[in-house]
Amino acid sequence: MLRKGLEQDKKEIEKELKTIAVKDKKVKGDYDAKFPSFGTKPDENAMEVTEYHDRLALHSTLEVDLLNINNALAKMKAGTYGVCEKCARPISPKRLQAFPRASICLKCAQKK
Ligand SMILES: [Zn+2]
Repeated sequence: MLRKGLEQDKKEIEKELKTIAVKDKKVKGDYDAKFPSFGTKPDENAMEVTEYHDRLALHSTLEVDLLNINNALAKMKAGTYGVCEKCARPISPKRLQAFPRASICLKCAQKK
């Protein structure tokens, strides 16, 4: 069940990433934000820069999400899913339900 949710999330994030970024061929799992092209007028160029900055911010958020999801899926395969990466205690099922890509327990997450 959780796995399905994760795979669904993964697909959606990859789809979203594809619209604003391109896969980096040198670094696996890395994306580069695409520079948009609206036109050649000065106001269009200004919009492009604004949009590009938005994309830069969004693409790194999505990239981290994707990384966490892949991480969670790999752990499911390895049978270590649901164990906190920091304190090695089990993550509560409630937290996993709400946030399947969680890699640390609530206690550790709140410690920041
Ligand atoms: Zn913990």
